[in-house]
This record gives sequence, C-alpha cells and structure tokens, in this order.
Amino acid sequence: MEDSLEMSRYTDEEYELACRQRLERESVIYERLITYLRTTRHAPGLTDTERKQVLQRARNFQWNEHDQKLYKLDYDRKCSRLVVRSYEDNMALLHQYHGSPTSGHCGLNATFEKMSQDYYWRNMTQDIKHYIATCTCQPLRRQPSEMCLMKIKEPWKLTGVNLMVAS
Ligand SMILES: [Zn+2]
Repeated sequence: MEDSLEMSRYTDEEYELACRQRLERESVIYERLITYLRTTRHAPGLTDTERKQVLQRARNFQWNEHDQKLYKLDYDRKCSRLVVRSYEDNMALLHQYHGSPTSGHCGLNATFEKMSQDYYWRNMTQDIKHYIATCTCQPLRRQPSEMCLMKIKEPWKLTGVNLMVAS
C-alpha cells in the first residue's frame, strides 16, 4: 500500500453519498449472512448467486450472540475484527484514529494499521485515504519540507506543529 495522498476527485457530499450507498448494499448482504450464521439456513427468497455469495462470506465471518455483532475472521481464524456497518460509526472511528486532536494525524499506513487491528469494513483503505486527504492536516502534507515533521511520532510534537500553523 502506498503511503501517498492525492487530492480527492470527489466533493465531501459525493463521497458521503457513495459511501452510504455502498454500506447499504453491504448491509443487505450482511443481514443475509447473519441469518445464515445464526441458523445455518439461508434467508428466504435468495437466488443461487446470492446464496453462493453468503456461503463465500460465511467462512470468514462470525456472529457473536453475546454482543449481537458481526466479526470478520483473519486468515488463521484466530483473530477477529468488528465489522463496521454504518456511515456514522465509520466516520466516528476515522475521527478517533486520525482526525481527533489526540490522534496524531498519522499517515495512511499507520492509521490503517491501527484501525485494522480491531475494525473491518469493505473499502476501508480508500475511506481512510479520502478522510486523510480532506483532513485539516492535509495542506501541511502537500509541502515536502513539512512532510518529515508529520512523521514525528510523539503526539505533543504534532500538537506543536498544528498550533504553529493555526496561529
Ligand atoms: Zn489529519
């Protein structure tokens, strides 16, 4: 994965709409998947293609009856990540992991690495990329001389950088 950020081709409104539509489509599939995982039976009325799609995903997902949430299993099936299914949750996490004052406004790779330890959604990398590309820290990123400053790991140093820019 490239740790580079080009300017987004979409406005925030366009991206949000596309994102919501994608999550809605995914949600329909997840509902079918959850029915199958809970009952080992398909939801009524599914076509052969839709059943196949459910069966493909069933291998990599797990339904937790205790917290009533869906988890994505990793390749070795030892670790699982919570499936994020709404635009609001998706944005709240992006804010927490990149946009909040204490997040450190890390780059794409670092943000993805941290988030993907606990969370999963389809197109996660692209959404992180878009979020960072449109974040308030972005103008700094486009100046090569400032790039190295953004790589500093200690959060308090980054706060210093942001304050200098804001004043
Ligand atoms: Zn940022």
